[in-house]
Amino acid sequence: MLTQLASLPIIQAPQLQKFDWLLHGFGLKDISIENYICEAGLKNPIIPKTHQPHGNTVHVLGPRSMVHGPVLEGDAFVTKEPGMVCWVRTADCLPILLADPKNKAVGAVHSGWKGTAGQVVLETIAAMKKSFGTDPKDLIAALGPAIGGRCYQVGVDVVEAFKKTGLCPGPWMEEVDRGHWYLDIAFANLHLLKTAGLRKENTYLSLACTSCDLEKFHSFREEKGKKGEQVSFVAMLSS
Ligand SMILES: [Zn+2]
Repeated sequence: MLTQLASLPIIQAPQLQKFDWLLHGFGLKDISIENYICEAGLKNPIIPKTHQPHGNTVHVLGPRSMVHGPVLEGDAFVTKEPGMVCWVRTADCLPILLADPKNKAVGAVHSGWKGTAGQVVLETIAAMKKSFGTDPKDLIAALGPAIGGRCYQVGVDVVEAFKKTGLCPGPWMEEVDRGHWYLDIAFANLHLLKTAGLRKENTYLSLACTSCDLEKFHSFREEKGKKGEQVSFVAMLSS
């Protein structure tokens, strides 16, 4: 739902809003991560520099010293460290924010079609299980604005990649005509979350379509190339 973080507009999930120990949101276009974090007044924040190669590499952001330095190559970031900002940039791809209220851990995932085919969200949950003891039954997942199923046509390359990981056929794909398919990226990721054991009531789905709402979002497809992005983030507050 569209709300405000201090003076800045932002989209938040009610399932995450109820936790006073975390800060989260799906940003609107052209508002930087620094801008949001500064506006929120997060104490001693660390915002890692990242590059998202559309893969399924997960970074467990540990003690603060470990993230000073080079750019982190990866599409998912998880942490138990207060002040550490897990964040991703998107413009049509799906941002997913995760929170484990039992073990107090959070994560952010960038999942486009390549990340979905590589099941990056499942890799992230596996990393949270291993590092923090997360039980998927307790996990909250918020799926942010992404390109909608009726606005996203894909070709045979995507279909082949999805077939390899058992994601095609599925109700999130619909053949438009020969060689062209509609793909609902959020629906495919919801399915992955269900297979991981997440409860339906613990998932939030933003219905906003980046391609339809260019006032609020950048859309790689609709704007025909890289015009900009929006940020999504989750961080734990220091107690
Ligand atoms: Zn749309």
